[in-house]
Amino acid sequence: MADLFDIVVVGAGPAGSMAAWSAALTGRRVCLLERKSEVGIPVRCGEGIGVKGFSLSLDVRPEWIRCTVKQTAMVSPSGIKVQIGNVDESYTLDRERMDADLVREAVSAGAEFRNSFPVLSITRSQEGYQCSGPAGNVCAKIVILADGVESRLARFGGWDTTLRLADIETCAFTRVFSPLIEKETCIFFTGSSVAPGGYAWIFPRGAGEANVGLGISGDRSEAGKARELLKRFIDKELPGSRIGTVHCGGVPVSRWVRPLVKEGIMLVGDAARQVNCLSGAGIGYSLFAGKLCGRVAGEALKGDSVDYNHLKIYEKVWKKRFGKQVDRSFSLKEFLAKHTDDRFLDRIAQSLSKEDPANTSYLRVFVKTFSRHPLLLLKAAKLFR
Ligand SMILES: Cc1cc2nc3c(=O)[nH]c(=O)nc-3n(C[C@H](O)[C@H](O)[C@H](O)COP(=O)(O)OP(=O)(O)OC[C@H]3O[C@@H](n4cnc5c(N)ncnc54)[C@H](O)[C@@H]3O)c2cc1C
Repeated sequence: MADLFDIVVVGAGPAGSMAAWSAALTGRRVCLLERKSEVGIPVRCGEGIGVKGFSLSLDVRPEWIRCTVKQTAMVSPSGIKVQIGNVDESYTLDRERMDADLVREAVSAGAEFRNSFPVLSITRSQEGYQCSGPAGNVCAKIVILADGVESRLARFGGWDTTLRLADIETCAFTRVFSPLIEKETCIFFTGSSVAPGGYAWIFPRGAGEANVGLGISGDRSEAGKARELLKRFIDKELPGSRIGTVHCGGVPVSRWVRPLVKEGIMLVGDAARQVNCLSGAGIGYSLFAGKLCGRVAGEALKGDSVDYNHLKIYEKVWKKRFGKQVDRSFSLKEFLAKHTDDRFLDRIAQSLSKEDPANTSYLRVFVKTFSRHPLLLLKAAKLFR
């Protein structure tokens, strides 16, 4: 026997919880399924987000903020540090708390939450679709797949979401406790010996604590390499620190999946590759896309039937608002991988380090990068046509 709902959402990360919450607000019967017993644990994230990433979808709650970040710094391969003072306010979040609160909001809005419910297959049923796993069967007219970067369920809807090795960042990350951690400053480290094809990061969490990790391009990775590089990085940058459990995870850095909707199945968040390919940031996109797709799903139900055309509004709005931005970040990622190396990054850092940090912004770094190399500038211009 299967339980019947209008909409089933699989995965209770930010994308899935937002989808379940906004779908429930349309008055539909919504079920949110999560394979883990506790949402958000272990946290597989640097937890960094800019104010803008939040504000379109949610008001950030004070209890979700571990640390307010006032400036960032970039360290070049040879160790030249560039302070970037002219940045929008950003935060290091408490994702464990935020993810749990988002589920609570979905439940308060009327969604049913079932944890310890791994979905292993999706089949067609009389009602629409049946999501099945060892914990039972749940049927719904619409299924929203928010099952994260390792998404295996999209294939039941006919998608091939396999990633090229170059389109996945292999990450190792941990919590670090050390008096050497700078307050209110996020630091990014580049260089082929630090994190080939990616970067290492230190995101402060307050009181001498930080999220520390690194991501390396999948085509330059091998078993255990990210962990080993992380250990080396922490020994060098934060010697003598206390280190938590090291976790590994992947960040999709590909184009977002097209189409986002097939008949009554929708993809959202990391499962849809809605991630900035340069920074690896996906929380803001997941919140936005989750909220949007849940609302559109709720509105597409007319009595017992689904208006499949209405579901396509989700892709249209996403494409217009953020889809082009994500595509551009993908092109830039490919471009920079091909046309820059450690020496080039050092040269740029050298010239930026002479500037006043208060006037240095991400845009300034970008302009400087491309203006150092006229041919690069010409080629890069094509990306923005
Ligand atoms: C190391 C690392 C650092 C990162 N740092 C940042 C950062 O600083 N800032 C930022 O913006 N982004 C960051 N990201 C990316 C960010 O974490 C993701 O983009 C974001 O979590 C995506 O949300 P989601 O809801 O799509 O997926 P997830 O948060 O991955 O949630 C997916 C959920 O689905 C559940 N699930 C999976 N399969 C099933 C199944 N079969 N049945 C039931 N449930 C299932 C999972 O248990 C999980 O709870 C980082 C990612 C990594 C790996």
